[in-house]
Amino acid sequence: MKIKKSIAIIGGGYTGIGAAIKLLDDGYEIYLIEKLDFIGGLGHTLTLSNGFQCESYYHHFFTKDKYLLDLSRRFLNLKPSFVNTKMAIFQNGTNYPWNGLNDLFRFPLINIFQKIRFIFATVLLSSSFLKPNILDKESLSSGMLKLYGKKCFRYIWEPILRGKFGEKSFDIPLRWMSGRLKQRLESRVNGKETLGFIPGSIQKLTNKVEKHLNKSENSFLLKETIVKSLAIDHKSQSIIIKINSKKNNSIKELKVDKVLFTTPSSVANNLKIKDSNKNISWNNHKYFRAYCILLELRESLSDFYWTNINDKNIFFCGYIEQTQLTGTEEYGGYHIGYLTKYVSKDQNKLLSKKKLIELSYQSLYKLFPNRDIDSIINNIHVSKSNFAQVVNDFNFRKVDTYKYARKNIYVVNMSNLYPKERSINNAIEIGVNIARKIK
Ligand SMILES: Cc1cc2nc3c(=O)[nH]c(=O)nc-3n(C[C@H](O)[C@H](O)[C@H](O)COP(=O)(O)OP(=O)(O)OC[C@H]3O[C@@H](n4cnc5c(N)ncnc54)[C@H](O)[C@@H]3O)c2cc1C
Repeated sequence: MKIKKSIAIIGGGYTGIGAAIKLLDDGYEIYLIEKLDFIGGLGHTLTLSNGFQCESYYHHFFTKDKYLLDLSRRFLNLKPSFVNTKMAIFQNGTNYPWNGLNDLFRFPLINIFQKIRFIFATVLLSSSFLKPNILDKESLSSGMLKLYGKKCFRYIWEPILRGKFGEKSFDIPLRWMSGRLKQRLESRVNGKETLGFIPGSIQKLTNKVEKHLNKSENSFLLKETIVKSLAIDHKSQSIIIKINSKKNNSIKELKVDKVLFTTPSSVANNLKIKDSNKNISWNNHKYFRAYCILLELRESLSDFYWTNINDKNIFFCGYIEQTQLTGTEEYGGYHIGYLTKYVSKDQNKLLSKKKLIELSYQSLYKLFPNRDIDSIINNIHVSKSNFAQVVNDFNFRKVDTYKYARKNIYVVNMSNLYPKERSINNAIEIGVNIARKIK
C-alpha cells in the first residue's frame, strides 16, 4: 500500500492506541510517542506476588462498549467475559445490598414514598427528558438533592458523590449523573447489572496491540520518549519534533506531516509551540487525583463486587472485590480487593505510600470488624494518578481539538469524552474518531 502522510501521536494510553490503530489501518505512517516504558496508560497492570498480572486501577466494561469489544475481538479473538455483579452500600456498620428494585424496597433507611420518588427521579434523570440547559446549570449535589429529596440524598447519593468528587460535588453540573445513569442502566441484562472483564487482564490486549504496532512497517513505537520541542516548518509544510529517548539518552529529530496529542493539554502547552513568533495553546484542565490500593487477600472479604462506603470516618469511598467479578483463577488463586479514593489535586497534598497503607488498614478494620485483616492481607500495592479524571466543573470546556487544524496539530483527551463517563471504550472511540477526521 502506498504510504500516505506521517503522523506523530503523543501519549500511548487507549486514546493514542485507538488513533494509532485506525491511522495504520488507513495506510498512514505513525509514530506513537510514550514517555513511560509501557503503553496502555491508566489501563496498565502490576505484577502480583505470584507473578500474575492485575490492573493497577480496577477496570470493568459495559455490554455496550462497542469500541473495546471490537478491539478485543480483533486482537484477542474474544469478547470480554460478562457476569452479573453485586453491589452494596456500607452504612452504619452494615452492608445493604443495592442491586435493583427489590433491594431498594428492602432498604430500611428511607420510607416507601422516598423509594417511589427514587424511581421517578432515576427515570427522569436517565431519560432525555431534562433539557441540557437544566443539566448544565444545576450542580450535581443540589440537583440530586432536589430530585431525590433529603433522605435519599443523604443515605444513597451523598456518599457516592463525595467519593467521586470530594469537596467538588457542588461545582460539577448535574449532566454528569445523567450520562452515568444512562450508561449503567444500559448495561443491565434482565434488570441485573452486567459487567465485563478481559480474561488475563487488559494487559493481554495491550500486549497484542503492541505486537501489531511493532510488526507493522509503517508504525514506530517510541517508549520512554519525551518530546523536547515542536516547530512548524512552513516551508515544507511539516512539523519538526525533537525527541529525547530516555533509554539511550539520545536526542533525535522527526519530521512529520501532522501531530496528535492524546495527553492532557498541558503537555502540548508546555512545549510553547510557536506559529509566526506567537505561542499557540489550548485550554488546560484541572484533574482529580486517584488513589487506588490493590490488596492481595488470602480469603474473600465481601460477597459484593462493589461497595460504596457511606461513612465519613473511613478515608476510602469504595471497596471493590475484583475476584467477585473475575473469580480467583484469574490471579492464581489470590482474592483481589481494591480501595479507591478520588481527591481534588489543588486542595489536597499528595499522600505518601506509607500513609495510604496506614489508611487502608484503618479503613479495612472498620469495614470488616470481625475479620482478621492482618493475617488475610498478603500484600498491598499502592497506585496514584494525578491525571485520573478531568474536573468537569462549571468552568470546564472541552479541549478545542481542531483549533490549530490548519497548522496540522490536534489535541484530543479525556475532556472530549464529556458528558460521557471516562472509560477505556470511550478513550478508544475518541482516538478512532479523530483519526477519521485528521486526514
Ligand atoms: C481509578 C480508576 C478506575 C477506572 N475504572 C475504569 C473502569 O472500570 N472501566 C473503564 O473502562 N475505565 C476505567 N477508568 C478510566 C480509563 O482508565 C481511562 O478513561 C482511559 O484509560 C483513558 O485513556 P487515555 O489514553 O485518554 O489516558 P491515559 O490512560 O492517561 O493515557 C495518557 C498517556 O499519555 C502518556 N503521557 C503523558 N504525558 C506524556 C508526554 N509528555 N509524552 C508522552 N506521553 C505522555 C501517559 O504516560 C499515558 O500513557 C478508570 C480510571 C481510574 C483512574
